Amino acid sequence: MHATPKKAFITGITGQDGSYLAELLLAKGYEVHGLIRRASTFNTHRIDHLYSDPHETDARLFLHYGDLSDGSRLVTLMAQIRPDEVYNLAAQSHVKVSFEEPEHTGDTTGLGTIRLLEAMRLANVDARYYQASTSELYGATPPPQSETTPFYPRSPYGAAKIYSYWITKNYREAYDMFAVNGILFNHESPRRGETFVTRKITRAVAAIKAGQQEKLYMGNLQAIRDWGYAAEYVEGMWRMLQADEPEDFVLATGTPCTVREFLEISFDHAGLDWREHVEFDERYLRPTEVDALIGDPAKAKDKLGWEATIKAPELARLMVDADIAMLENDAWVDSVELASWAK
Ligand code: NDP
Ligand code: GDP
Repeated sequence: MHATPKKAFITGITGQDGSYLAELLLAKGYEVHGLIRRASTFNTHRIDHLYSDPHETDARLFLHYGDLSDGSRLVTLMAQIRPDEVYNLAAQSHVKVSFEEPEHTGDTTGLGTIRLLEAMRLANVDARYYQASTSELYGATPPPQSETTPFYPRSPYGAAKIYSYWITKNYREAYDMFAVNGILFNHESPRRGETFVTRKITRAVAAIKAGQQEKLYMGNLQAIRDWGYAAEYVEGMWRMLQADEPEDFVLATGTPCTVREFLEISFDHAGLDWREHVEFDERYLRPTEVDALIGDPAKAKDKLGWEATIKAPELARLMVDADIAMLENDAWVDSVELASWAK
């Protein structure tokens, strides 16, 4: 551990990835500062287990109100905190929702990035910067997709993220910043947002198993995704910022799985037949779909020594187990326990 701990600033700390990253950095001895949005109800359930009263002398997690739409607040926070590492994970992150809220998505998922990068410059903060880029950048470009594959986004979300990708690269070149893009393929966990397809499926399996739900309405089952385990992906983010040179990296499993296969594995694991419960609903189709995402993670393995060990079948089973446990206990299941189940 450092004599004076390194300081990290995480936007999106209340989200799936932010919570795992905060856990990882605290375990590595960092002082962690997170940006949270004011809401009328508490929205910190994913990080409550990490939080201690700031009056405690050993407190190392600090939360600050703010929003990626509020640039002056970001400048103030950068000037006050003066972090060594900045992880920009905040975004309107749902592809389907981005068709309904395209302008808001552009404002937070796209322009939010420039506000944060400018805040670092205005406050003279010489921190290493991680940008949460995405396989959605590839969109219509067929797999396998690597760091050199051309982009072709297929949603307002993908278009907003492509702005963030390029502005991160531009700030690296223009201002000599250590600013990198992690181009992450889909990664899931028991902390995944409930409206993403994996979690929607595993929660439904738990509810159907418990007799609380009969049907599950779904959209396109043919889509192919490369699903990994979020707790492993945050380690890759951290390694990108410890590298000698700032470079962009793909993180992926390299293994394809269709939505239908994920359904089948999840229902099977609970002793259920998905065909008896799943029905089609066109409301879950997107105006433009991304048919197939399969990443090539060779560069991350070679240069960062990072490799995904948990792939779709195991991931589906651990998420089903967690959702069944959460329903039975009516309580949040902590990932520390889950990580050991998954090994
Ligand atoms: P989540 O949707 O779980 O979390 C998003 C986070 O962003 C939440 O903490 C949310 O806060 C915060 N947020 C949203 N809008 C704002 C805003 N205007 N100002 C400040 N904070 C805001 O996403 P994930 O954890 O799954 O993903 C993390 C990042 O990685 C995102 O940028 C996502 O687009 C990207 N990504 C994710 C992939 C995945 O498979 N999970 C794949 C590739 C990229 P609140 O809790 O208040 O809503
Ligand atoms: P995405 O890859 O970021 O869009 O992540 P999602 O988990 O939202 O969707 C993954 C894939 O599942 C996409 O191809 C969706 O079209 C497909 N899908 C099929 N049915 C559903 C559904 O009911 N909800 C969601 N979210 N996606 C669905």
